[in-house]
Amino acid sequence: MAGGCPMPTPSTNAPSRSRPSSDSSLLNDLKKSSILNPTNWSLRLRFLTVPAALLGLGCLTLAFIFQRYQDMVVVESVDSRLSVFQHWIQDKITNEFDVLLSEVSPLAAMPEVIESMRQRDKDHLVRYILPYTERLRATTGRESLYFHFHLPPAVSFLRTWDVDAAGADLTDIRPIVVKANKYRSPFRGIEVGPGGAAMRAIIPLNDGSGEHIGTVEAATSLENLLETTALPPYFGAMLLLDKRFESVLGQNRIRGVHGKWIVGRGFSLPQENRVLEALDNAGVPERLGNAFYRFLPLEDFEGRAIGGILLGYDSMALFKSTVSESLVFGLIFLLGAMVLWFHIYWNVARVKLFLTHLERVLGNTVSGDFTGRLDTTPVHCLDILHCTKTDCPVYHDPMRICYLETGSEALSAVSRNTCIFLSRYKHCRLCPVYARRRGDELVEMRHTVNTLVRLWGGFMGRVDQVVSGVLQTSEASQGPSSLGQVSASLEYMAGLTAFSHDIQGVYNRWEVYNILGDACQRSLGLGQFAILEFAADGLATNVAANCFAATDALCSEMFASPELCRAKRLGKPVFSEPTPALCPFFHVDPTTHVRCCLPMVMGGAVGGVMTFVTEAAAFASKRLALSIVQKYLTECAPVLTSLNLLEITREQSLRDPLTGLHNRRFLDSYVHHYEEISRRTEKRVGFLMVDVDYFKQVNDKYGHLAGDAVLKELSGLVRQTVRAADLAVRFGGEEFLILLHEVRPNFTAVVAEKIRQTVEAHAFPLPNGTTIHKTVSVGFAEYPTDAASFYKAIKFADVALYKAKEGGRNKVLCFEQSMWRDQEY
Ligand code: GH3
Ligand code: MG
Ligand code: MG
Repeated sequence: MAGGCPMPTPSTNAPSRSRPSSDSSLLNDLKKSSILNPTNWSLRLRFLTVPAALLGLGCLTLAFIFQRYQDMVVVESVDSRLSVFQHWIQDKITNEFDVLLSEVSPLAAMPEVIESMRQRDKDHLVRYILPYTERLRATTGRESLYFHFHLPPAVSFLRTWDVDAAGADLTDIRPIVVKANKYRSPFRGIEVGPGGAAMRAIIPLNDGSGEHIGTVEAATSLENLLETTALPPYFGAMLLLDKRFESVLGQNRIRGVHGKWIVGRGFSLPQENRVLEALDNAGVPERLGNAFYRFLPLEDFEGRAIGGILLGYDSMALFKSTVSESLVFGLIFLLGAMVLWFHIYWNVARVKLFLTHLERVLGNTVSGDFTGRLDTTPVHCLDILHCTKTDCPVYHDPMRICYLETGSEALSAVSRNTCIFLSRYKHCRLCPVYARRRGDELVEMRHTVNTLVRLWGGFMGRVDQVVSGVLQTSEASQGPSSLGQVSASLEYMAGLTAFSHDIQGVYNRWEVYNILGDACQRSLGLGQFAILEFAADGLATNVAANCFAATDALCSEMFASPELCRAKRLGKPVFSEPTPALCPFFHVDPTTHVRCCLPMVMGGAVGGVMTFVTEAAAFASKRLALSIVQKYLTECAPVLTSLNLLEITREQSLRDPLTGLHNRRFLDSYVHHYEEISRRTEKRVGFLMVDVDYFKQVNDKYGHLAGDAVLKELSGLVRQTVRAADLAVRFGGEEFLILLHEVRPNFTAVVAEKIRQTVEAHAFPLPNGTTIHKTVSVGFAEYPTDAASFYKAIKFADVALYKAKEGGRNKVLCFEQSMWRDQEY
């Protein structure tokens, strides 16, 4: 029987030895351990939450950087656009000066003009000049184009607008004209007057002899220039003049004063109102939202700053085009990131599911709850419930069988309301008996699993060491066998779980022992072993399984006295190593072999012992295997307890509790079975029906207790009178059926008479200390001589009994056909 699968050889340096001995501190360590507790692994945090947060943060950062970058690009682009725009406006102004000069030059060269000026003939000049200016205005489309003629140094020749509202002559303060006269050459410049900032081009007039006779001037409003200029889309402008010109300018020229500026008309300047606010507060703005500004300063003809033109650009369109590009890019990035994240989520969710299950199983087993491990197959459990007939589950479900004879008058008051039946539950936890069960098995089972978990924790710790050793490349040699131990331990765990499944739903104890023996041999490589089973009364030992080659290894001394077994007495494993003298029944040579006895604790007591003999040299390597066997035994214990209980219950349900004789339920199952055998072997069977005469009087006179005592005594007498192999059944209240096997002719009559005489001669003791005498009447019949079937023979014996009663009682009568008139039974 030796052999089976070779067991993985764990290191002698078993982790269970090197770990601290206290289970609770160890468990605490394990609970704290981030390796064993998947909750501490925080997978969701590490793989889902953190990546999602990082992803979000990354997106935000990217968006921020992108926005900055985009802004930078836009600002740069706007800057260059504004520069171009500025140059363009400057060119416009320069160009306008040239135009003014080109318009005024021909006028200055005309002999009519020179002559009129020399003659100071205003009318002639007006007649000549007005059509000219009107034509020029019409062709250029400029409303504000004016021509002025001055006598030296700066006296207006044609018009008198050089007089202010009060009538004061302003001629002298036309410094530009004065300056132009001084230079005696074409002159240009900007001058701020009541009409606003005007661009002026002045040319001196000479008569033919070289005498300076005055100047001629062309002027146009700067504002008008901006007005007539077609600005590019999104660009705008506004003229700002220094506040000091407030008194110079005509009131209709002042649109508003903001900050230190007099504001002129705006020409599609973006965000004009906000610009005015900004001028009030902080000065000339550079940027307001998406609008960008640039200030083009202007100087007058003397080179003094007079204000400038505020140029503006609305970059919204530019933003829109770059935003739409970046939006596409951002969406593609976000989509990719989400796909990646969902991929991680999908995979992590599966790992998480596995770990959650593992954690639940480990957590449950540590707290002694094994249902998680056994939840794949429904379990049968023996239920014992207190019930009355109406709420009894068996009563309502005919598919269930109660193992107690309910409703019998013979049942005691306690057991009458008890029902014992088998139930099928999906989980042990659902069974009410499981919930109520308290006892050493659970503690033991919990201890077992805790030890396993502890071992596993140790192994995982070693793996951790090895892995970190490998990672650091230097300390890798510390635990070369750890991985082997881990795999061996996991294999044992798997074996244990499979074993737990296997022993569910077994029919009887022998099946359990077979599975146990097979597991010990196949998975653990333990060759020689025996399983000893102690009787419930503790008086005898049975051999439940034996594969010892030499029988004297069986400890036969303790067959009669189980208490001799040390493992039974202590309820703990006993080894002959290192102290061979520990038990006188080890029966092994301590130099070559080691004896190991492992107890099986059932219902708080040691119900059996598994005993092994291993070679001393291999003992160290078998230690771990033995501790696993101990777990196997712990797994077996509750199953064996249930099976024992079931057997006892079955046995009890077939016996009458008062007399200890078999009851009619047993007879029913027995008759069918034995009748077949008797028919085949053609053996004769005798049936005796015994009934106490006037038994009612006993009850009436001495009470029911006395009646019970008589019945008990009588059943003892009957049992003693017949052979051990014969069957005595309590057939009814004070009626007994005796079935005699293989009777010779006349043997039944002899036994019947013997019973009658024995009873007649017996003094029945009563509870009150007195004795009484009773007689019985007996009727008998034989199979197959009197009847063709057992039930018919029983009936005929009963008929004979009836006749004996009729005949005066205390009689034995054999059945005769004349006693039975009915043809059909
Ligand atoms: P007979 O000679 O005709 O058999 O008279 P009997 O009084 O023995 O017969 P009967 O059938 O009238 O009465 C049987 C009595 O046995 C009735 C019942 O009270 C009593 N009895 C039946 N079972 C028990 C029991 O378990 N304990 C006690 N004390 N009495 C029982
Ligand atoms: Mg009777
Ligand atoms: Mg009777």
